[in-house]
Amino acid sequence: MNKKVVIIGAGIGGLGAAGLFARKGYDVTVVEKNANLGGRANIFEHDGFKFDMGPSWYLAPDIFEHYFNLVGERVEDHLELKRLSPSYRIFFRKNGDPLDINSDIEKDTATFEAIEPGAGEKLRAYLKQSKYQYEVATQSFMFKNYDRIWDFFNKRVMTEGQKLSVFSTMHKFVSKFFTSKKLQQVMEYTMVFLGTSPYEAPALYNLMSHMDFNQGVFYPQGGFYELIKALANITEKNGAVLRTNSPVDKIIVRDGKAVGVRVEGGEVIDADMVISNADMWFTETRLLDIPQQTHKEKYWQKRTMAPSAFIMYLGVSGKLPSLVHHNLLFSEDWRKNFDEIYKDPCLPDEPSLYVCAPSVTDPSVAPEGKENLFVLVPIASDLEITDEQKEMYADRVLALMEQEMNLPGLRGKIEYKRIYTVENFAADYNAFKGSALGLAHTLRQTAIFRPKNKSKMVDNLFYVGAGTNPGIGTQICLISAELAYKRVHNITTAEPLESL
Ligand SMILES: Cc1cc2nc3c(=O)[nH]c(=O)nc-3n(C[C@H](O)[C@H](O)[C@H](O)COP(=O)(O)OP(=O)(O)OC[C@H]3O[C@@H](n4cnc5c(N)ncnc54)[C@H](O)[C@@H]3O)c2cc1C
Repeated sequence: MNKKVVIIGAGIGGLGAAGLFARKGYDVTVVEKNANLGGRANIFEHDGFKFDMGPSWYLAPDIFEHYFNLVGERVEDHLELKRLSPSYRIFFRKNGDPLDINSDIEKDTATFEAIEPGAGEKLRAYLKQSKYQYEVATQSFMFKNYDRIWDFFNKRVMTEGQKLSVFSTMHKFVSKFFTSKKLQQVMEYTMVFLGTSPYEAPALYNLMSHMDFNQGVFYPQGGFYELIKALANITEKNGAVLRTNSPVDKIIVRDGKAVGVRVEGGEVIDADMVISNADMWFTETRLLDIPQQTHKEKYWQKRTMAPSAFIMYLGVSGKLPSLVHHNLLFSEDWRKNFDEIYKDPCLPDEPSLYVCAPSVTDPSVAPEGKENLFVLVPIASDLEITDEQKEMYADRVLALMEQEMNLPGLRGKIEYKRIYTVENFAADYNAFKGSALGLAHTLRQTAIFRPKNKSKMVDNLFYVGAGTNPGIGTQICLISAELAYKRVHNITTAEPLESL
């Protein structure tokens, strides 16, 4: 008989693991608390508007391709990927001229040169290093399970790491290349994707620039949720059972081994192993008894959480020509804005924000002649916001957009608005402190220092998703699925698997 695997949660990590184990011939059941699959990559529709609720940047297509190949599929048979051009547009406060990043080295060096003489050549040098960093990361440490500190801080990482100064902070690193504040912001904003700030993140993460500048920014036509549908189809095709509306309330442990889960209402699903994709804090402190917890409540209280988000899903009547698909507005006082997220939590008065307008590229996500907007302001996790404050803040953010993103009269054109924030993340995904992304990628929460994907206290209990290695991001969670697979099969290699 095939071994039975129960996976708690159908986020990308959970679905990714389900695909790998099902393909290998395990008997896989995924139990998801929500009505939809996909976890934070969720979706909802309203009056012809189709809103992707979470991720919208399809980056590092090679990592997705690698996963699809492992499960015997081709990305192009499932997704119609469009390379965005420009990749994104950046608006600066009190400055009428937005800047487009094209992920085209000639165009982008010219853009940099125009802002800071000499910066064009520096961009080439920077991106060369990011590319190298990315290759080292994907070949030598992202696809590896760590057990001992020397697994990560080996001779190569230490020598090269010092040489490339990847253990300094991102901000220091970027400042060595670019002196203008504008260009520093352009190179640093990706740290928000990792739930950290350029003043905390190790410079190692300059590899993110390889993704957006060198590889380009993609969009799955039909919306990001097409990726979830593809992962679910592949998984089911290989025999896995995907159950929704089934919150797990207990991992059943017998003689020190995970032997199944209990679903709310009492149903027990037996298993030979359990893999949890629910936030690790939740799995550890809510689904296990105290003696079974590898990381207890005290441990979690000391972690640095990635930001939560103040999100607005907007249905807008009329088109908005000043916007491209991805748009960013950077605050003037960058450091203050990061402090308001990490050090002195409050709703930032002059926030940086992100506006996704997928209807610019994809007519299927909004009624004809209308615009679908996703507006995201990173804010501190655990922030309590009253309904009145939410409405006031929404108005503040919309006013800022009108003024700084060339969107006059935007507020008068909004025909649908839904606000989604800290408490929604906590309620919908059992997210610790309502963080949108989970554990931040500070140096102390990276690689060997991130919680491992195997329980120390309970045999046959494993973890997958953004809370374990390598960390946050859709394609990165697919790597976490591969790491769980490697862990279960005692595969200790550093390279991506060639086959299952
Ligand atoms: C607003 C936003 C924007 C983002 N933008 C991008 C982007 O542009 N590009 C990118 O690559 N990444 C982006 N990310 C990050 C990326 O979406 C996440 O890192 C990734 O989707 C997390 O996947 P996961 O596997 O950790 O699972 P999660 O998505 O966290 O899913 C975990 C699942 O477990 C379920 N669960 C919890 N408790 C239980 C229980 N008791 N029983 C059963 N099920 C349970 C939850 O309901 C959920 O479905 C974004 C995230 C957010 C929130």
